[in-house]
This record gives sequence, C-alpha cells and structure tokens, in this order.
Amino acid sequence: MATTAYPAVTSTGQPVLILKEGSSETKGRDAQRNNIMAAKLIAGIVKSSLGPRGMDKMLVDSLGDVTITNDGATILKEIDVQHPAAKMLVEIAKATDSEVGDGTTSAVVLAGALIEKAEELLDKDVHPTIIVDGYKKAAAQAQKILDKIAIRIPAGEKDWLLKIAKTSMSTKLVSREAVLLAEQVVDALLLVAEKNGTVYRVDIEDVKVEKKAGGTVRDTQLIKGIVLDKEVIHTGMPKKIENPKIALINAPLEIEKTEFDAKINITNPEQIKAFLDEENKMLKEMVDRVVEVGANVVVCQKGVDDIAQHYMAKAGILAVRRVKESDLTKLAKATGGRIVTNLGDLGVKDLGSAAIVEERKIEEDKWVFIEGCKNPKAVTILVRGSNQRIVDEAERALHDALMVVKDVMQHPAIVIGGGAPEAEIAHQLREHSTTLGGREQLAVQKFADALEAIPIVLAENAGMDPIDTQVELRAAHSQGKKWYGVGASQGKVEDMEKIGVYEPAVVKRQVMSSATEAACMILRIDDVIASTKMREPRGGAHGGEGAGMGED
Ligand code: ADP
Ligand code: MG
Repeated sequence: MATTAYPAVTSTGQPVLILKEGSSETKGRDAQRNNIMAAKLIAGIVKSSLGPRGMDKMLVDSLGDVTITNDGATILKEIDVQHPAAKMLVEIAKATDSEVGDGTTSAVVLAGALIEKAEELLDKDVHPTIIVDGYKKAAAQAQKILDKIAIRIPAGEKDWLLKIAKTSMSTKLVSREAVLLAEQVVDALLLVAEKNGTVYRVDIEDVKVEKKAGGTVRDTQLIKGIVLDKEVIHTGMPKKIENPKIALINAPLEIEKTEFDAKINITNPEQIKAFLDEENKMLKEMVDRVVEVGANVVVCQKGVDDIAQHYMAKAGILAVRRVKESDLTKLAKATGGRIVTNLGDLGVKDLGSAAIVEERKIEEDKWVFIEGCKNPKAVTILVRGSNQRIVDEAERALHDALMVVKDVMQHPAIVIGGGAPEAEIAHQLREHSTTLGGREQLAVQKFADALEAIPIVLAENAGMDPIDTQVELRAAHSQGKKWYGVGASQGKVEDMEKIGVYEPAVVKRQVMSSATEAACMILRIDDVIASTKMREPRGGAHGGEGAGMGED
C-alpha cells in the first residue's frame, strides 16, 4: 500500500479524522522496505571501517570542524541521521559503546546483515513474526555457543590484558603505537582497580585522559597522579615542591560578597582603613590556617583572593584555583587526601601526598603535575600527538582500550578475533538448526549467514575475495579448526590464535544481543505514522512533533 495522507474518507464521503492534519502513514510492505533500506544504508556507511585494514572517515560538521575516525560510534554520532529506523542503529552503536566500549562497528554491521538476510525470507513470504522468533532463538543459542568456546583466563593477568588492549588499538589510527599505549592502559587500570578476592572492580573514570597536541604519540605518558590544566596562580609562588603536603579545598579563599546590596556609611578615612584591615585580617587567617596544618600546596575548587595569594606566596605555598570538581575528587583518590569544604575543619590528616608537584610547560600552556603518588587510586594518561586530530583519535582509541581491559578484568573470558568466533558460532548454529522444524529453521540459518558478515567484511576490507573467504572459512570450521579467521595483514584465512588477536567475550556477547534486538525491532514494524516534520523548528524549540521514534 502506498503512503496515505490523512484525513481518510469513508464510503459515504465523510472524512474521518484520526491523526493530526498533515500526518502521513506508511503501511505494510512499504514501511518494512523503507526501514530495511535505511538500516542497510547505515550499515553500508560504517562497513568499510571494520577491522585492522578498515578505512577512516572524515566527517565535517555544520561548523566546518573536521573529525577523522574509524570508530563506529563516533561516525554515527557525528552524522545527522533522520530516518527513524536508521536512528535505531545509531542507538545500538551508542549502547554498545557505553556498555562494553568496543564492537560498535561490528554491532551495526551485524544488525545490517541480519536485516538484509531477513529481507530474503520476507521475499519468500515468511512472516516477520516467524523471522523475529527464529532470530531470538538463534541469538540465545549463539550466546550458549559463545560461552562454550570462550577461553577463561586468570583475572587481572597482565599478559592477557596487554593482548586485549593491543588488539583493540590495532584497528585504529594509532595502531603503530599500540604496544606502548596498551602498556600504559593496562598499568593505569591495574593501579586503580579494586581487588576483592579474585574479583576486580574497575571504574575507568579513575583514569583521567588529558590531551595536548604536540610531540608525537610516542610521548604519551602515564602519570601516577593527576595533571591539572591550570597554572600556579601567583608569580611569587614556588613552581616546584618535593614531597608536598596537599590541601584539597572546596571553599572560596576570598571574602564572599553579600547576596543583597549592602550600604556602608563611611564618614572618615580611618573607617575605610579599618574596614580594609578587617578584610585583610580575615584573609590572612585563612592562609594561616593552611600554614598551621603544614600544607605547602593548595588546590582550590573556588576562587582565591589577590591578598590571600600574596600571603600564600610569602609562606612559600604553591596554589591552584578554580579546579574542576571531578579533578578535585580524582586528586583525593590519587593523593589520599580529603576534600574539605570548610577551612576551619582542615587538619593534618586531610593532607594528601605525592612525590612532587610541579608546574610544567606543555606547548604554549602551563600545567600543574601532581605525580609520584603512592598507591594512587586515580591516575592520568597524558596523550600527545602531532596534531589535534591525531590526539583526538588517540584519545578515542585509549577509551576503547580502557573499556576492553576493564571488560576482561571484570569478566575474565576471551575469544580469538578476526571473525573466527563469528564463523565458529555460525557453523555450530547451522548444525543446531537441523534439530528445528519448519520456517524457524530458515530464520536460524539466516542468523548464521548474517554472523558471517563480520569475517566477510573484514576480508573485503583487507582486499580479499569475499566468496573465497566464505568457502574457505566454512571448510575450516567444519573440520573443527575453530579459531580460523581472516588474517587481515597476510590476506588469507588462517589460525587467528597464532596471530594473537584477542577480544573480550563480553564484547561479542553485547554485539550479538544489541544487533539482534535492533534488527528484530525494525522487522516488527509494519506501520510508520509520522507527523509532518517541521523543517525549521520555531524558536529552536523541538515540540513533540518528531516521528515518535529515536531519541531527540
Ligand atoms: P569495532 O568497532 O567493531 O570494534 P574495529 O574496527 O575495532 O570495529 O574492528 C574489530 C574487528 O577487527 C574484530 O572482529 C576483530 O577481531 C578484528 N581484528 C582486529 N585485529 C585484527 C587482525 N590483526 N586481523 C584480523 N582481524 C582483526
Ligand atoms: Mg574495536
């Protein structure tokens, strides 16, 4: 049925108004085809960036800012997708990113493949509900197979963590520095992780990633402490203090102005002097408090008055002001200090420690390094690179690596990559499908075919022949060579275990579940009712006029 415009008209000629004027409805096959096409297009966009030989995308936003990346989630975040079904694929990329941090491109490619394979069944008049049911069964079975083939590793073993981090980074722009960066990622997380028996709890927020263009990616360093993009506030203050005693203050070191207009009647010069002296005295008392407890570094979240700065400089204190709350929290974790909100409460026990606090010049900026902390529970990775785009992409690669290492620290099971697990699961699923009857069997087989899209796309991106690859892979897996996959650098099907490509099992689990979810959701839609889209939202306000799907 074609697109119908409301109002509809009854046989007696009377209009029946159900939807708002101007709404349009797309039904049945048309709606389905439309959605399928949109989903396939989105998958088509990110496909070419999958794997170590994947290409990068250059994205230009409406302000002309350029991003170069091959990170699936970033690509989809930057392009402005309108179609509601396409938006759902963007959503799964985001969900995968926030759940496990890697596998975003794979999730979209797999969802696209699932939809494409479903289309073949729709063409044969298999009802969408049957396909959806079959897909759900297949997904559940696939997870079981994944559990069976996954390799358990000792939790937190550095060698394994390094392998995982390296694989994740080898598909990115910074792949040449993967070894070096992997080392820093793993060291950082091992430092900040909480170990409870054999179970690790990791929060990647405890690793602050600070970036600055300049130098090369090789200059990226792990700092056992926190780097603040702030300078020391007063020229008279020391720029370097060894074995510092650090006060973390979340209160202004200035006299707070009254909320309302206060009027002070001053009738002679002595009164002005008395008034200023009083202010001066209060500020001096604040600084005295800091000196009394023995602090020689002050990190303040609020402002610091000029006069207080002067007194602190005289007392040989190094101070930084207007530090972000998140940085102050990290500093507390790194230095073992406690944040005080009231200067009067500041005690010796609240002071944090480090090996050194120093202001250093980073390109044109001056930053304060608080480093050499003993047993820091928050650390910094300072990312360098020859230009802003490299630094940005390096930061994204680090994020992915931090996430995958966290994944295997918390769930210590891995698989070999390069499309081998997908090929193996596809193989076992096909065997399983013979135990099923009827049309469901077809859907499960299509699910298996869709999984093969991962190795096939990896092969295509490496310039290999997709059909030959598929045939070789199937042959290998039916002979029980379960880790045979696409050796992208050699350009041939081989044992990926020998090549050393490792991924967290949870990433694969998440990729399969989110792709299946999105594909099923899209396949179930047979009716799209859309209000007229306002081209230019009035006054920038988006009313409830969207298509009723997607996020907006
Ligand atoms: P995603 O966003 O899905 O993580 P990537 O571009 O990172 O996309 O590609 C991940 C895929 O590349 C995985 O299937 C992984 O196994 C594969 N891969 C990574 N390194 C290699 C390699 N050296 N050879 C073959 N495949 C690899
Ligand atoms: Mg990846």
